[in-house]
Amino acid sequence: MSAATKTAYTPTAGSILFFAIHLAAIYALFVKPDMTSVIMCVVLFVIRKFGITGGYHRYFSHRSFKTTRWFQFVLAFLGGMAAQKGALWWAAHHRHHHQHSDQPEDVHSVKQQGFYWAHLGWILSPEYFDYDAKRVKDLTKFPELVFIDRHHYIPPAVTGLACFLIGGWTGFLWGFCLSTVILYHTTFAINSFCHLLGSRRYETGESSKNSFILAILTLGEGWHNNHHYYPHCARQGFFWWEIDPTYYALKFFKLIGIVHEIKEPSLKVIEGKEATAALG
Ligand SMILES: [Zn+2]
Ligand SMILES: [Zn+2]
Repeated sequence: MSAATKTAYTPTAGSILFFAIHLAAIYALFVKPDMTSVIMCVVLFVIRKFGITGGYHRYFSHRSFKTTRWFQFVLAFLGGMAAQKGALWWAAHHRHHHQHSDQPEDVHSVKQQGFYWAHLGWILSPEYFDYDAKRVKDLTKFPELVFIDRHHYIPPAVTGLACFLIGGWTGFLWGFCLSTVILYHTTFAINSFCHLLGSRRYETGESSKNSFILAILTLGEGWHNNHHYYPHCARQGFFWWEIDPTYYALKFFKLIGIVHEIKEPSLKVIEGKEATAALG
């Protein structure tokens, strides 16, 4: 993999921060929260999860809807607040996953490298601290996206500071640390559990599964077999009972004129008569 862009953290600092926030999240469980801290934990989970699902995943990785340049930056910032590096880093690796899913080149394949690697190991590996900028040429033409990706520590730092200023140490522990760690593992679970447990509607040539529980925990990302079958569409729950809050939020943003050209699955796709479309 060519390493075209350096991440802002040194590998050691990034790994230390990653482990430190886990320790802080465990400590938070022993600190009695006030109502403000609980609200911050829940609200920041939902907003930042949408930044990952609607922003990093369905917009930056798959370009499954269109929006304005300012809202594009808002999505990059919201996703960035989840401390999962920048939108360009995230999208480059995710596009690679779709192109090589469950093949030896896949960055996080349960089938190839086991559960731990797919869930967490690859993120801690120095091999993937950088990304191949050639995979996100459509995004690197926006200097503000390159800036916020390179300085990806800014959105989480602002979020953590805001939590502290609003709720003190309890607010920081619950609103930022605990919420961020739950965000981490629900996101990582799509790469691990959703390639391991659940049902399959479509034959996709790899191991993706649909999971109702993970769809609830991830604002609709648990319909991962649907998604691997047809990654281009913004909707991942193909039927009314396949709850997909990210899609509902995008429909709302379309209603108020912020997003447009939301890609929907055609009847041919839903019936499984469309060839699986891998992202290049
Ligand atoms: Zn996958
Ligand atoms: Zn995807």
